[in-house]
Amino acid sequence: ATHTSLPERDCSSITPPYARLQQKLAEVREILDNRPLTLAEKILYSHITDPKKSLVDGKLKRGETYLQLSPERVAMQDASAQMALLQFMSAGMTKCAVPTSIHCDHLIQAATGAEADLKRSIASNQEVFDFLESAARKYGIEFWKPGSGIIHQIVLENYAAPGMLMLGTDSHTPNAGGLGLLAIGVGGADAVDAMTGTPWELKAPQIVGIHLTGSLSGWATPKDLILHLAGKLTVRGGTGRILEYFGPGVFNQSCTGLATVANMGAEVGATTSTFPYTPNMRSYLIATGRAPVARAADEAASKGFLSADEGAEYDEVIEINLSELEPTINGPFTPDLATPLSKFGEFVQEQGWKDELSAGLIGSCTNSSYEDMTSVADLARQAKAAGLKVKVPFLCTPGSEQIRATMERDEVTGALQDVGATVLANACGPCIGQWKREDKKEEENAILTSFNRNFKSRNDGNRLTMNFLASPTLVTAFSFSGKLSFNPMTDTITTPSGAPFKFTPPKGQDLPAAGFTPGETSFYPKPTPEPQPETDVIIRPDSQRLEVLVPFSSHFGESSGNLRGLELPPLKVLMRVRGKCTTDHISAAGPWLKYKGHLTNISENLLITATNDEGGDVNVAFDHDHEPSQSETETIPNVAKRLKARKQPWALVVDDNYGEGSAREHAALQPRFYGCAMIVARSFARIHETNLKKQGILPLWFADKADYARIGSGDVVETLGLIDLLNGVPDATIKLKVTRRNGDVFEIPTKHTMSSDQLKWLRAGSALNHIRSQVQS
Ligand code: SF4
Repeated sequence: ATHTSLPERDCSSITPPYARLQQKLAEVREILDNRPLTLAEKILYSHITDPKKSLVDGKLKRGETYLQLSPERVAMQDASAQMALLQFMSAGMTKCAVPTSIHCDHLIQAATGAEADLKRSIASNQEVFDFLESAARKYGIEFWKPGSGIIHQIVLENYAAPGMLMLGTDSHTPNAGGLGLLAIGVGGADAVDAMTGTPWELKAPQIVGIHLTGSLSGWATPKDLILHLAGKLTVRGGTGRILEYFGPGVFNQSCTGLATVANMGAEVGATTSTFPYTPNMRSYLIATGRAPVARAADEAASKGFLSADEGAEYDEVIEINLSELEPTINGPFTPDLATPLSKFGEFVQEQGWKDELSAGLIGSCTNSSYEDMTSVADLARQAKAAGLKVKVPFLCTPGSEQIRATMERDEVTGALQDVGATVLANACGPCIGQWKREDKKEEENAILTSFNRNFKSRNDGNRLTMNFLASPTLVTAFSFSGKLSFNPMTDTITTPSGAPFKFTPPKGQDLPAAGFTPGETSFYPKPTPEPQPETDVIIRPDSQRLEVLVPFSSHFGESSGNLRGLELPPLKVLMRVRGKCTTDHISAAGPWLKYKGHLTNISENLLITATNDEGGDVNVAFDHDHEPSQSETETIPNVAKRLKARKQPWALVVDDNYGEGSAREHAALQPRFYGCAMIVARSFARIHETNLKKQGILPLWFADKADYARIGSGDVVETLGLIDLLNGVPDATIKLKVTRRNGDVFEIPTKHTMSSDQLKWLRAGSALNHIRSQVQS
C-alpha cells in the first residue's frame, strides 16, 4: 500500500541490540555444535544471560532445559502492575533495569460511550491511577494514561521490534509477535525479575512449526486462521510450546493480521507465537514512525537472524493452506470449539438455541487494526446504501488513540455510527467484563465478538450469555441480520424497500493512505522519561486497594528470634491440603481482584477453596493451640492469622502439582505474609515453586510420596541439613524431623530444587530483600 507515515522517532531505546544478540547467538551455536535453529530458538538463545554458565555440558534440550534469560522490555497493564510495582519498590532500586511501560486499560468501564465512560472510570479508580502514575514518574517508566489505548495495541504501535524478547504482565502479550519477536505473558514477579535485572527463567519451550501456504481471500481473515487452529490444537495444545509460523502464506498477510494470530495463540496455551520478518512488518514499522528500527531489522535479517535456518527441526509441523480456509466461529464458552461458517446455522439448530443474536462487539486488542476497521466500515457503507441499520447493539472498542483518531479522520467512525454503532473508549471495556449491560440480565442469549476469550460471564457477568468468537467482518455482517444462522457469503437481508441485499466480500486497507495520526497527544508519555527520585509514590494511608509492601523478615539471624542458626525455626503445620490446589485455590480471583495491590486485604482469601485432607472440608483448618475463648475449627485464613499473631512460623503439607494454573505471585506472597516458611509437596508446579522461592518460602518435595499422609495439622517440623545447603556443601540433602501432636518423633527424607542463587533469596528472606542488599552494598 502507498502511505505516508508518522514522523520518524528517536528509536534508540526501542531498537534491539542486534549486533550483541547475534554475537550471543554465535556463542550458543558453538555450544550446540552449529545445528540449524528455528527462529524462536534464535531469539530465545540470543537472550540467554550467560550461555557458558547456563548450558553446562553443551546441553540444551527443548522441553527440558531451564534457560536464564535477559528480556529487553517489560509492559504492564493497570491491574497487574499494582503488585508488580509494589514489589519492585521494595527492591530499593532507583530505576528499572530495562525500559518498562504501564498501560491504563483494564479498569475502564464501558457503559454509554467513550467520553462519559472514561470520566467515570477515572474517578472511580483515581487512587490506583495516581499510584501508577507517581510510581512511573519516580522510576522512569512510560505511563500511558486511561484513554490512550489497550496495552497490546500500544506495544505493537510503539515498542515491538523484530527479534526482541519482551515480557508483559498480561496473557495476550504475545500479540506483539505480529512484528516477529517473542513477547511472553507472565506474572508480576517475573516482570520484577526483568525490571531488577535478575535473569528470568523459562523452560526451553518446544517449537511447533506452522507452515502456511496459499492466501486468504473473500471473507476469510487472519482471525479465521487462528480460530481454525484453536479448533485443531484445543486449549491445551500449545502448552509449553511456541508456535512458529513459516512458509509463503506468512508473507501475504499484514503485520496487524499476524498480530491477531499471535494474540490468540494464548487461547491454545502457547508460550508465544512468532513469524519471520516480512516486508509488511517493515511497512508497519515505517508507518508508525520507526524507520530506524526497520533499517536495523533489515540488516539483521540480511544476516539470517530474523528467520529460521534451512533444515531447522520443529517438534511438530502443522500444514495450513490459507486458500482453503473458511470463516470460522468459535464457542460458546471455550475458544477451541470451532465451527466453519457454512455449518454454523446447522450447529445452532442442533443445539436448540434461539436463532437470535443479541449484540455484536468488535475491536479490543485482538482486532482493532486499521485493516479491521476499514473492512467493517466497507460493510457498513454497503449496508447503509441499502438502507440498513444494525439490528442489535453494535459496540466498537478501538485499540488505541492512534487507531481511534485515524478512524475518525478517515470517516471510518462516521460510517459505523451511521448504521447505529456505539464507539467506546480506547480500553478493554466489554472484553474484560467492564460492560455495564442493561439488557439480557440472567437470560440465555448469544453475542458475537471479535475478541479472544469467551469463558462464561467474561463480558457481561451473565453466565448464560453465549459468546461466539469471529472475525470483525463476520460480527458486523451478523449484526445487520440479527440471526445466528446467517451466512453473509450466501444469504441475503431484506431491506426496508423489500429488496434482498447481499454483502460483497469486505475490503480494507492494511495501512492508512494518509498515514496514521496520533490523535490526542496528551495521552502519550514522554519517550524514555528520566526517573524522578524525589517523587513520592501516592498511596493513601487509609486505602483499601493499595498498601506498601513491608519487606518480609529473614527466617535467620538475630532479629528472627530463630535459635537454630541456619536451619528454619520449628514450624507448626497449618494443614494438609488434599488434591488439586491451583493458584486460584490459593488466591481466588473474582471480587478479590480489586485488592490486588493490598496484600493485607487480599490475604483474606488465602486457600479459601482448598480442601483439608483431615476431614475433607473446604476452607476449614484446625487450631490445636487455640485460646479458651477461641474455636478450634476455623477458616484457613483465620488460623493463618492466629499463627501470625502468635509469631509462630508455619508450614503446609500439600499434594501433587501444587500451585498449577497461573503465574499469580499473590499465591506465594499471601502465605508468606501470614508467616509460612516452608511448603512440603508431593510435587510442585514449576512456576509456582519458583514464586515461592522468590518470596522466601522453602519448597521441599517428599522423597517418598507416602510420607504426605504421615504429617498433620499441629505437628511440628524442623529442617535438618539446610545449614549444609546454605553453607554450599555439595549434594547436601535436607531431612525433616517431625514431632507429632501425640509425641511421636520421626525423620523423613526430602528433595529440593534450590539453586545457589535461590538459596541467597531464602537466606535474605526474599529475592527482593537480596536485591535490596546488593543495591545498598
Ligand atoms: Fe485482555 Fe481483552 Fe484487554 Fe485484550 S482487550 S488486554 S484480551 S482484557
